[in-house]
Amino acid sequence: MEKILVGEDVFVPYLTEKTIQKRVAELALQLHHDYKDTTPVFIGILNGSFVFMSDLVKNYPGDCEIDFMKLSSYGEEKISSGQVRLLKELNCKIEDRHLIIVEDIVDTGLSIQFMENFMKLQKPASVKVVTLLLKPDSLKYNVKIDYIGFEIPSKFVIGYGLDYAQKYRNLKSIYCLSN
Ligand code: 5GP
Repeated sequence: MEKILVGEDVFVPYLTEKTIQKRVAELALQLHHDYKDTTPVFIGILNGSFVFMSDLVKNYPGDCEIDFMKLSSYGEEKISSGQVRLLKELNCKIEDRHLIIVEDIVDTGLSIQFMENFMKLQKPASVKVVTLLLKPDSLKYNVKIDYIGFEIPSKFVIGYGLDYAQKYRNLKSIYCLSN
């Protein structure tokens, strides 16, 4: 894995494709163990979670449904603006359903808090959260993350769905800003 240069920023290899795939498969089996008597609805948060969501459901060995929501993103910035807007709502009915919110990364927790509050208004049977990455030192909101792929330092990362100004989502590995 090579370094990636973006202007003056240097991104260094952080999690390999193999490491990510192994952990995603483990998470899928753990979820299936907990949800096997139900048909959960995986709800991906666009755009970042689309790669993780895809691998997660491919490794999920039971019945499930999927849907997506879209929240406003960081845009071209590397830090959170502190505000969330809903850009795309759900298409399915979630009343009495078991929901699994799928995030690529939890940073301050603002997006997850917004999503949970939004969904609970529609009276689902349950709501849990799975995230591939969590930055524990960045958390500012009181959110419970039920399933975590990797805990990482509070550094900006790209690849495997995560962007920098909309690019680099298609990298199979995850890279971390070194400076
Ligand atoms: P939060 O609302 O928890 O502060 O941030 C969650 C969202 O911020 C993620 O879904 C992601 O879009 C974006 N984000 C947070 N940290 C990073 C990061 O290190 N890299 C990238 N590319 N996006 C991030």
